[in-house]
Amino acid sequence: MAKCSLCEKAVYFNDTQVRPKDGLLYHKSCFKCTDCASQLSLTSYAFHGDKLLCKTHYVAAFQTTNSYGGDERFKKQKDENVLIAAPAPTA
Ligand SMILES: [Zn+2]
Ligand SMILES: [Zn+2]
Repeated sequence: MAKCSLCEKAVYFNDTQVRPKDGLLYHKSCFKCTDCASQLSLTSYAFHGDKLLCKTHYVAAFQTTNSYGGDERFKKQKDENVLIAAPAPTA
């Protein structure tokens, strides 16, 4: 039986559920920011350690620990944009 990664209760097939990545499964109602309890979606969640956070609190967590390195997924996106923007190498 699949279990919610947060409340560790069973997630039934017909429960509204979120599977952010392999091995992680949440009730939709459990897929919330640990800090502000706002409902998260697959495009707005972030992990800080094993803490589930919204973007705002994810960034805040890094700012307070002074080790903000940017969200990896956003960083990647940015890098891709840079690649696209960069002039094609001349052969
Ligand atoms: Zn749950
Ligand atoms: Zn939050």
